[in-house]
Parts: sequence; structure tokens; C-alpha cells
Amino acid sequence: MEKYKDKKLKNQVLARFIKKFLSESSWEYVQDCNTFMMMVADETLENKKQHKGNTCKNRFCPICSWKKARKEALALAIQMEYIKDTYNKDFIFLTLTTPNVKAEELHDEIREYNHAFQKLVKRKEVQSIVKGYIRKLEVTYNQDRDDYNPHFHVLIAVNKSYFTDKRYYISQSRWLELWQQVTKNPLITNVHVQKVRTNSKKEVAELAKYSAKDSDYLANEKVFDAFYKGLKGKQLIVYSGLFKESNKLFKDGELDYYKEQDPTEYIYALLYHWGKGNYVEDEKRLLTETEHKEINKDLIHEMDIEEE
Ligand SMILES: [Zn+2]
Repeated sequence: MEKYKDKKLKNQVLARFIKKFLSESSWEYVQDCNTFMMMVADETLENKKQHKGNTCKNRFCPICSWKKARKEALALAIQMEYIKDTYNKDFIFLTLTTPNVKAEELHDEIREYNHAFQKLVKRKEVQSIVKGYIRKLEVTYNQDRDDYNPHFHVLIAVNKSYFTDKRYYISQSRWLELWQQVTKNPLITNVHVQKVRTNSKKEVAELAKYSAKDSDYLANEKVFDAFYKGLKGKQLIVYSGLFKESNKLFKDGELDYYKEQDPTEYIYALLYHWGKGNYVEDEKRLLTETEHKEINKDLIHEMDIEEE
């Protein structure tokens, strides 16, 4: 419940900052997001999960984006499994960045990034190793310097032979060189690339997280405005090649056989509403027979991810 409280408090900060950008009715959805929720719990009341609640689905909402990231993390982990099993691929994780920019340059800088990335994947040596990728845009804010760092996290499916075949392998220094060329920016000093280990929770979380941390974009109203304008209309996540296929299969439920069944037996329903700065429990009751059947033995649809 602490987590929900924390996210709802941040949602209220967002509601203040975002008001000027939204129509009255869209704004009310944000303001009222998750004001009512139904949790279900097992006998000990230790294991709980949210069963129902009202949502706003705003891309900046700390509650909605937290839930979305947990779902996306599982989706990514499953798609990697599927691609590994079906196509016998391995993965590399690439982080592409450029020097920080000021608020007013953010919008254009992101557009430049997209162009540069398109050029990068069209380079012959890159094209020949990439069997599919997921590209995620992330923007961080540096409070001390009051500037912004847009960067890409890219998960790339490659042949297993990629790491040993000298004709195809791209070293870190070569990735850096390529990124400098396509951005036309020789000042870039840092490109990070690594092989993704089988237990890839860290990289999965990195990709699944929302494109901006709420602790960053809610720093103050000026910073929020910069994030809002910078990310407006931008495509944040892109699927390509094998990942495009796996993403479609996942969405159609065709990869559900990778999901595990939730072993918890839920027997209680807990109903809350958002009061003055905290969730207030209105009712605790046993689940009805219909609810019990509907809620139990369900598949697990999300994955825990660390947030800093
Ligand atoms: Zn929301």
C-alpha cells in the first residue's frame, strides 16, 4: 500500500503540472486516477494484488506508467524466451547517447536521434547482424546542471555465431565510431554495449520502464513542461524484425503458454478510496463464489521491476 500511496501522491503533483495542457475532461481522468481500488488478498493478507481500479492511461501518470512497465517487463522477458527458443538467437544490449542538451533543444534533439538511429540500422554491417530489435527512448534530467539527456536503449537479437565470427562482430569502439558518424557528432565518447545474460532482468527492466522517471519529470513545473513538450508526439518504443513478430504474437495471447499460473489463493476483497493524502480502507469482505472463481488460478500478467 505504501507504493500505491507514493504513486498516487505523485499523480496529484502531475495533475497540477499537466492541467494547462489538457481539456477539462481528460484532466479529470488524471486527477481521479486510481481513487477507487479493489485489492484481493490471501488468508494471511500478506499477498495482495490489485483487481480493479479506475485508470487514466495518461503517458505521464506515475500510477499508470508503473503498472504498464510491470506488464511490459513480462512481455519483453517472454518475447526474448520465444525468440531464443524458436530462432536460436542471442541478444545484445546497446545504449546510445549524446551530450546533454538544454530544455529548448530537447524536442529537436530527439528528432535528430531518430534520424541517426535509422541511418545506423541501415548501415550494411549493422543490417547484416540485426535480426530484430526493440528500441526505447529515455530522457533523464540532471538537476545540478539543469539539462537533459535523451538516449536509446536497444535490445538486439543476433545469431549465436555473432560473438565468435570476426566477419560480423562489431566491437564497442566500432559501435562508437558508427554512432559518431550517423549523428555527425565526434564529441560523443560513450556508447555502451554488452551481451545479455540469460537472466536478463536488469536489461528487461531498463527497457520496460517508462521513458522518463517520475522523480525526474516531476522535479518542478518548468522541468515537467520540458519533458511534456520534448516527448509530445514522439514514438517511445519501436519493435522491428523478430521482435515485431513476437510482439504481435504476445498481444494476440499466442505466447500465453510462457506465463505462469498465480499460486496464491485469494479469499478476501479489500476496497479502498483515496482520502486526504492516503488510501482509506472502506470494506474487507470474503470474495463471492463468482469472484473467487474468476480471480484465482489466473495467469500472472506482470513482473516486478526495480525502480531507483
Ligand atoms: Zn493514471
